[in-house]
Amino acid sequence: MRLVFLGPPGVGKGTQAASLAADLAIPHISTGAILRQALERQTSTGLEAKKFMDAGDLVPDAVVLQLVRDRFSEPDAAAGWLLDGYPRNLDQASALDQLIQELQLTLDHVIFFDCAETELVRRLSGRRVCRNCGETFHIEFAPPPESGHCSGSGDCEIYQRSDDAEEAILKRLEVYQRETGPLVEHYRGLDQLIVVDGATAIEDVAQSLRGVLGLTP
Ligand SMILES: [Zn+2]
Repeated sequence: MRLVFLGPPGVGKGTQAASLAADLAIPHISTGAILRQALERQTSTGLEAKKFMDAGDLVPDAVVLQLVRDRFSEPDAAAGWLLDGYPRNLDQASALDQLIQELQLTLDHVIFFDCAETELVRRLSGRRVCRNCGETFHIEFAPPPESGHCSGSGDCEIYQRSDDAEEAILKRLEVYQRETGPLVEHYRGLDQLIVVDGATAIEDVAQSLRGVLGLTP
């Protein structure tokens, strides 16, 4: 099965992607992970990407596409893959459409995890991190200990990262809407889109996801 996962930050698509990919025994491909891997292995595409990163620039679309192409050619991707967080904009989507056609593959489904903005803000703004041990919490779903010390040592300090503050979250969601939002209509037009309600609990989302894909639990 070949799948693309689409959805706003905070919808939990990374969690769903990891668990579904494991169930289907296909690789879970996120661009961040393949970039790190390419850098570690010092592949020619990895070294190309490094030039841009060292200069403080974004890795251009063409290089990201090459990373995806390289990843698709690895043996474990022969049976399928799950792309998570790529494509991110219409240009990348067209490039991916072309690549898939060129490789004579079919994209089975694009899953869009839908969720209201207020709920995304609630989820993202509740994140807390320990400055000392890096442990993450959520004020509603995984509350930090009342003492404020997670490891028992006196050095723990639980705080909200600046990019988890409401203003920063709204900015991230706005960028997502502008850049990635149009992909919903793009894939709907290609008749590849399936919408899953991402506003429910993780286990319920997982169940709906397997339901729409016709997988038995
Ligand atoms: Zn701590």
